Amino acid sequence: MKGFPLHIGNIISKFQPLAREILNVLFPGFCPVCNIPVLSPQFLCENCTAALPPMPENYCLHCGMATGQPMLGCGSCLLVEDRPDRVYFPFLYQEPLNHLVVQYKFSDRTEWARHLGELAMERVGPLLVWEDLELVVPVPLHPLRLLWRGYNQAALLAGAMAGKLHKPLVTNALHRIKMTQPQTKLDQRARQTNVRNAFVANQTVVAGRTVLMVDDVFTTGSTVWSATQALKEGGAQRVVVCCLTRVAH
Ligand SMILES: [Zn+2]
Ligand SMILES: [Zn+2]
Repeated sequence: MKGFPLHIGNIISKFQPLAREILNVLFPGFCPVCNIPVLSPQFLCENCTAALPPMPENYCLHCGMATGQPMLGCGSCLLVEDRPDRVYFPFLYQEPLNHLVVQYKFSDRTEWARHLGELAMERVGPLLVWEDLELVVPVPLHPLRLLWRGYNQAALLAGAMAGKLHKPLVTNALHRIKMTQPQTKLDQRARQTNVRNAFVANQTVVAGRTVLMVDDVFTTGSTVWSATQALKEGGAQRVVVCCLTRVAH
């Protein structure tokens, strides 16, 4: 009987993948958009994955405005010094993704961060590897809002993206020092005023570095621009932005 437990262990480990497959078929997950069964590790069904709204091909590389033709930057942001060096948007904020993002952000669907991060990286990961990124930094929440919501949706997303990019996630690079109103209730001008000087960067972390800053939704860009300004004032060499979705405008 010598070695018997080891032998049993070998048999179990041999059949583990099969057992996992059987459990997967018996207890599948469900596509959060159309609710049909999907097998792990799939998040969305194939139809819903294919329906994810891609970004238009031509947009300003700094502010994300649709330009209709290939160009490096649009007239309104090329003269701004502390602009993002490059912005990436894996998806447009349209159906079915907009509903997923709202649930992710406001209904504690924190486990979706990994899936959303993976979907984003499938779209823009091959482009981001050319950016020589050194750290991944989420757009922070104010500590009081973090306390109220319980999680920072941008930080979870940034963590998922950092894992895929094999870059460090750094959550103390940028701090939100101003408690701002939710941007959704404000027009463009009010948004800019609302988030002006809302952030401060940790110089010892960002000085001389190329930073990937991550957020979930890009509407007018006021938040991202204000945070970029703080990173550049802190000495960041380059600020590359990746927002999961951008509102069409
Ligand atoms: Zn589906
Ligand atoms: Zn622009």
